[in-house]
Amino acid sequence: MTKAAALELIKLTKSYGGTIAVDAINQTIPDGTYTCLLGPSGCGKSSTLRMIAGHESVSSGDIIHNGANITDLAPARRGTAMMFQSYALFPHLSVVDNVAFSLKMKGVDKAARQKQARELLDLVDMATYGDRLPDQLSGGQQQRVALARALITKPSILLLDEPLSALDPFLRIRMRTELNRLQRELGISFIHVTHSQDEALALADHIIVMNRGKIEQDGPPQEVFDAPKTEFVARFIGGHNILGADKRKLAVRTDRMLLASETSPGAMPAKVLAVEYLGTIVNVTVQTIEAGELTVSVGDTAYFRNPVEIGQSVFLTWKPEDAHQLAA
Ligand code: ADP
Ligand code: MG
Repeated sequence: MTKAAALELIKLTKSYGGTIAVDAINQTIPDGTYTCLLGPSGCGKSSTLRMIAGHESVSSGDIIHNGANITDLAPARRGTAMMFQSYALFPHLSVVDNVAFSLKMKGVDKAARQKQARELLDLVDMATYGDRLPDQLSGGQQQRVALARALITKPSILLLDEPLSALDPFLRIRMRTELNRLQRELGISFIHVTHSQDEALALADHIIVMNRGKIEQDGPPQEVFDAPKTEFVARFIGGHNILGADKRKLAVRTDRMLLASETSPGAMPAKVLAVEYLGTIVNVTVQTIEAGELTVSVGDTAYFRNPVEIGQSVFLTWKPEDAHQLAA
């Protein structure tokens, strides 16, 4: 099933003086999907998001939303809403008034806007906090309010810039589940910027991997993780060994490599350097002549059936279909 192309970026470019932050990217983001824009710090994720939101001017290229060119439209007229990294709530306004703020600007009367604000607070599980001031809330609660405030404009695209990075690890995972639920309930598109591959894999229907202002790969999470197209993606998404040299590099998932104490045709000899027990898996780091240091992730049950010792000689094999050719 192909969904309608809700958002199209066409040769979208952002330069700041001499720095090209976003380099002529072409990308379609289908309607009603959870998309993560993933990449290391400085690769151009926020610049891309801010151009979509209209908070940053476009240096060249176009942004098309539902067939209309929105490149130069004011932020409030694009059908998008942005949730900022710092939640930027008004400290002197109650939670309800913070959420209702944009409706007040539009001239919606008090009773109507407060009713809508309370409905959205209910949606983000904050119904009982409406009368508090922002500094009487925890970070996680402030974030829910910021979400409600962004959603009250009824956007068809919600833009989130590193929305979970300020939360502690426990809350981060809880909010992750919440964001996923919200997106499915609302059926609108979420475009979520993150530098965390775990976050992107856990949340996204669609991952776009950026590197130095360009898109390296995009696709469903399983595809990006299973079959990275470039060495950059394989290293950034993690969980892969890179084999071979120059133009013939391959990526093989660390959990698809098999470790044996006996050799077999085509097996790669190695020596065990380190063993790291991680609960459900055990990561065995080995030294090879052909490919340097590699990691083999073995399920705990399988590992303890055949444990290895540091310094031991072992042999690595993998199935041909688990080796993915990387673009030169
Ligand atoms: P990311 O969100 O992926 O970390 P950004 O889009 O914030 O990346 O930044 C991309 C590049 O553009 C970086 O090199 C950054 O230093 C530069 N940059 C971002 N904003 C500005 C700005 N307002 N002025 C000058 N350079 C900027
Ligand atoms: Mg950023």
